[in-house]
Amino acid sequence: MSMVNVGRPTRPEGSTTETRPATLTGGRGLLQDEALIFELGGWDKTGVDMPQPALDASDLGDLVRKDPIGLPGLSEPEAMRHYVRLSQKNHAIDLALYPLGSCTMKHNPRLNEKMARLPGFSDVHPLQPQSTVQGAIELMDRLAHWLKTLTGMPAVALSPKAGANGELCGLLAIHAAHDAKGDHARRVVLCPTSAHGTNPATAAFVGYSVREIAQTEDGRVDLKDLEAKLGPDVAAIMVTNPNTCGLFERDIMEISRLAHAAGAYFYCDGANFNAIVGRVRPGDLGVDAMHINLHKTFSTPHGGGGPGAGPVVLSEALAPFAPAPWVVSGSDGYKLVEFEEAEAADAFGRMCAFHGQMGMYVRALSYMMSHGSDGLKQVAEDAVLNANYIKARLQGVMSPAFPEGPCMHEALFDDSWLEGTGVTTLDFAKAMIDEGFHPMTMYFPLVVHGAMLIEPTETESKFELDRFCDALLALAGAAKGGDTERFKGAPFYAPLRRLDETRAARQPKLRWTSEPGANLAAE
Ligand SMILES: *Cc1c(COP(=O)(O)O)cnc(C)c1O
Repeated sequence: MSMVNVGRPTRPEGSTTETRPATLTGGRGLLQDEALIFELGGWDKTGVDMPQPALDASDLGDLVRKDPIGLPGLSEPEAMRHYVRLSQKNHAIDLALYPLGSCTMKHNPRLNEKMARLPGFSDVHPLQPQSTVQGAIELMDRLAHWLKTLTGMPAVALSPKAGANGELCGLLAIHAAHDAKGDHARRVVLCPTSAHGTNPATAAFVGYSVREIAQTEDGRVDLKDLEAKLGPDVAAIMVTNPNTCGLFERDIMEISRLAHAAGAYFYCDGANFNAIVGRVRPGDLGVDAMHINLHKTFSTPHGGGGPGAGPVVLSEALAPFAPAPWVVSGSDGYKLVEFEEAEAADAFGRMCAFHGQMGMYVRALSYMMSHGSDGLKQVAEDAVLNANYIKARLQGVMSPAFPEGPCMHEALFDDSWLEGTGVTTLDFAKAMIDEGFHPMTMYFPLVVHGAMLIEPTETESKFELDRFCDALLALAGAAKGGDTERFKGAPFYAPLRRLDETRAARQPKLRWTSEPGANLAAE
């Protein structure tokens, strides 16, 4: 008999996986198999009753549609069920710990949602006169104040839509600053080998070429290599701190000194700010620009809710080049500086049409205010504590990539412990799905062989961390005990089995056609 960990039986005596018959419908338990919406029915039923329009079709002349419109036709409950069934095939932070590293998938407090739904925030229109949305603009000003205070930086651009968009904003400000000095010879951006892919991609997008900085044995920027690669052609260095190996760059002051001495700016990738918020102010480290992924550090949802927000804090040197808009306050209330004139004459332009993502601003500020400044400090401490707990529990069996000393907010393992088992990092990750856990980040950072990067965040209790570690240790035992089948065929319990993820990413099927078989993306 199988038991849950509180001793309650989960299966009848004698039933085993092997004797379980395949279902006749493709359903699983109470979860039904689901077709694509276009396959569910034609335009013969709809969720709403609409009167026939009394339009005179002749007004449209040749433009009158001759063929069926091709929309799916579903009754209201069918439409609802379709999307609920699809949602049940997704993993979610509200189902279990999400161990992805370099992503900070943390709980989205419901208080944030309640605040974001207040009509004064959710029902405002970006073209409304500013005098009618003073509260919303004040909220942007408050958020800007918190971000500047927490980072020790004098300016912030709120409008970028995510981390990568923030990198673009930062590099455009750096580009504008060099241009303003007449320094057009700086064509290179330096990135460490462990950099997130968006760093070199952003630099290339702005028109820079990328030069790689080597890494030391212990996972940090190689200072000698950095020094050798800095020169009059370097516009900026982009360094993530804590870095993507989950380690604090202990030479960060020297890194920034060297960059500035060479006339370059220091762009810090702030995706891992969660690990140091309230404890370290990037402004004190000599950072010139840093994005803050509100969905990683300040608990706004990842994806799903539309565009995110990746505000960029800027140093004194870069502040004049910040993109419009920004908020100023005076005796007549709050005002958005919208145009590239007067105080914004040096702005490099705009990142988006309006003012950024109001819903995310409200959620992030709710999170900050509900924690307070002391609570945010504890957030960083607990995130680091949780990652070190995982590292400590797993390191007897799995091999940490950098065993020396503690890690920051994420624990990084390599695949040397799987040697001789016939099981790869990918196989191991797929077997985690069968056990009810989303895999950790795999094969990133690239500098670590078969990398497995685990980030629990501060929102997980010891009970949840133990449940996760117990599952990994059980799987590791199976791998080392020669139970390769469990891994090679995994996932056995997911709605679809092992997919060709490369093909799905490289040749995505973005449009449904009625041709049989044409819609299978990666099976
Ligand atoms: C997530 C991440 C990014 C990109 O941020 P998005 O918000 O996903 O665009 C950049 N760098 C690092 C280190 C990251 O973890």
